[in-house]
Amino acid sequence: MSVESLKCKECGTSYELDASYVCENCFGPLEVAYDFSGLDAAGAKRRIQAGSQGIWRYSDFLPFKGRASDPLEPGLTPLLKADRLAERLGTKAEIWIKNDAANPTHSFKDRVVAVAVAKAQELGFETVACASTGNLANAVAAHAAAAGLDSYVFVPANLEEQKLLATGVYGTNLVGVRGNYDDVNRLCTQLAETHPWAFVNVNLRPYYAEGSKTLAYETVEQLGWKLPDRVVSPIASGSLFTKLGRGFQEWLDLGLVEGRQPVFNGAQAQGCSPVATAFAEGWEVCKPQRPETIAKSLAIGDPADGPYAVEHARKTGGGIDSVTDQEIREGIKLLAETTGIFTETAGGVTVGVLRKLAERGELADGERVVVYITGEGLKTLDATRDTFQMHEIDPSLDSFETEFRQEVAA
Ligand SMILES: *Cc1c(COP(=O)(O)O)cnc(C)c1O
Ligand SMILES: [Zn+2]
Repeated sequence: MSVESLKCKECGTSYELDASYVCENCFGPLEVAYDFSGLDAAGAKRRIQAGSQGIWRYSDFLPFKGRASDPLEPGLTPLLKADRLAERLGTKAEIWIKNDAANPTHSFKDRVVAVAVAKAQELGFETVACASTGNLANAVAAHAAAAGLDSYVFVPANLEEQKLLATGVYGTNLVGVRGNYDDVNRLCTQLAETHPWAFVNVNLRPYYAEGSKTLAYETVEQLGWKLPDRVVSPIASGSLFTKLGRGFQEWLDLGLVEGRQPVFNGAQAQGCSPVATAFAEGWEVCKPQRPETIAKSLAIGDPADGPYAVEHARKTGGGIDSVTDQEIREGIKLLAETTGIFTETAGGVTVGVLRKLAERGELADGERVVVYITGEGLKTLDATRDTFQMHEIDPSLDSFETEFRQEVAA
């Protein structure tokens, strides 16, 4: 079919489609390369619309020779028009929320893991593994359980308790490393050399990354086969951000959709903002940082795809902003109050940046903005502590009326 090879993003050298991720010539990252010349837009559209109710409907654009499947198929998450949010932000732009918390393990990571685990099975691996900031651990443990594979998940030991509990329950080997994500990632890179395991975001990273494109495809389909004018997306390693761009571009090139690449706005937490900093300073590379933020799922101090994210934001006329922990909490609250969607800290980062764009007057009247909400609020409950007060009363009418005197009096 249309999957060709792995290709170095820097020097273009081609490799077999196996479990490798670094170029032997220049140490650049490898990426899946396709040949879409045998694909016509009408046929592809027909297969998509006749396909499953999840990411495998986009099989023509995923790195498998045959049809992949899995029992926990993610995807086709809701895209909602958020008029009350737009109103609160004082913008006349059309704001859309893509709620990717509505996936099997409640984050967008189900997309990338489904693709990586299916590929691991195709390549004959019996054990899957990952270096995770939390959500990836959830997804790997669950998809491994669903596929009947063994799994090892490595996380910083100081992760949110909810994320540890929601991972351990699947019967995985949960390993808490005393260090930050970048320490965990370094260890996993060594383990990938010494153990015959499929590390979804290390030796299977080229396939893993392809899963993010499905978010772009879904957006186009759900907007009635139209592109958004602008997207706002969180950035950790920069993989999601750059692959959204790739997904839109593939469909533009094929003629499945008309128009131009949306303006890309990236979102980071100020306490871990190597990509936003590189953008602001005009650097080609990202200077590593030591993370210190409540947005732990985005806390990658040395982001592998950071430079590509910077390049894509520049090329599309967008930007990359960062927000404080307080602005993250306010972002969570604002989204919940105006849309009924409760997001984790990463979503607070994204909404916080959306708010900045609105306040700076960067959103044009009528422009269509899609905001990617990538994780579930129940996984980071601490972030909402003390942001509201419960009314405590005795079980009597009197007690209620007294407590609510001002409101009820009228
Ligand atoms: C992993 C993750 C992202 C983005 O990760 P990238 O490494 O940039 O692809 C965004 N939001 C949440 C909640 C995540 O878990
Ligand atoms: Zn190379």
